[in-house]
Amino acid sequence: MNEFDLIRRYFCFSTSDNGLSAKTASGESISLGVGDDCALVNLLPGHQLAITTDTLVNGVHFPEGADAELIARRALRVNLSDLAAMGATPLGFQLALTIPEIDTTWLEKFSTGLAEDAKKFQCPLIGGDTTRGPLSITITMMGTVEKQNALRRKGASAGDIICVSGTLGDAIYALEQLFSDSLDEYLIRRYWLPEPRIQLGRVLGAKATAGLDVSDGILQDVGHIARANRLTACVEFHNIPLSRSLLSSNITEANARRIALSGGDDYELCFTIDECVFAEVEKQATELGCRISKIGRMLPLDESGEAVICVDLGGNRLPIKTAGYDHFRK
Ligand code: ADP
Ligand code: MG
Repeated sequence: MNEFDLIRRYFCFSTSDNGLSAKTASGESISLGVGDDCALVNLLPGHQLAITTDTLVNGVHFPEGADAELIARRALRVNLSDLAAMGATPLGFQLALTIPEIDTTWLEKFSTGLAEDAKKFQCPLIGGDTTRGPLSITITMMGTVEKQNALRRKGASAGDIICVSGTLGDAIYALEQLFSDSLDEYLIRRYWLPEPRIQLGRVLGAKATAGLDVSDGILQDVGHIARANRLTACVEFHNIPLSRSLLSSNITEANARRIALSGGDDYELCFTIDECVFAEVEKQATELGCRISKIGRMLPLDESGEAVICVDLGGNRLPIKTAGYDHFRK
């Protein structure tokens, strides 16, 4: 099999015979998908294109020898999570795949997983590149958002409450225990198949003041919002939402909260919002089957200059380590 046979066999699943691609969640049309020098997309008036790229490297972002179907689905979902964080709706994606050799069993599984989630999230594969080398997967995801609704990191004010969707800490706990036989199915799923909060992101685009997705640990990520607005984020340790599965696993509640603060891979949305609209947003989130929790408040910049502080139930400051994952930290 050569490079072109490979592309035709495994990566044309979103393209019909006439070259047009499948329906997109955002309602734009793809007028040309895989097979030409570029893809062509028709955009709706009044919308902006939201673009993001994430790379997953074998042995760094997923364990070596991991199931190809799960690798594909996770790669797609972490990119979709960035769209959700911006309040954008999926349009389509490109895949730059580097593989050490043509392993048809692996490619078949990878393609099946990718096609399944591309369909689920109405996000067609519209092009890419295929090269030989150590296994790595780069996805460039595109979405669209109405001009006034893009949710940025900048925009929060002192007094806004800080909220988070879902629960935190499940994925990092699962990753640490991935090879133990006793790990809960739900937690394994939370690591491999994070739920991109696309619908919630659209609600937040119109209602929240700032937001991002939690990929590197809530303390580090909320710090990005704080710094973008020259504020201090005050996070309430006791209000970090934890799943029942994590609470009934083999760690204490306090330790579960600790890993939830600094552990990455949750792909939940963290956002700031005027307290007056919280109830309304919570109602919309509930209708979408998604829990949201208040976890703190944005304050005027702390006299110590710290972007993030963490307090206990009595308001006492807790010592924290704000550094989440950093690829270049020595
Ligand atoms: P070019 O030489 O113009 O870069 P390629 O030979 O790399 O083109 O790719 C041919 C076509 O196949 C292009 O439309 C490209 O977008 C698409 N393509 C290549 N690799 C992939 C892939 N892994 N997934 C989806 N589309 C791909
Ligand atoms: Mg190429």
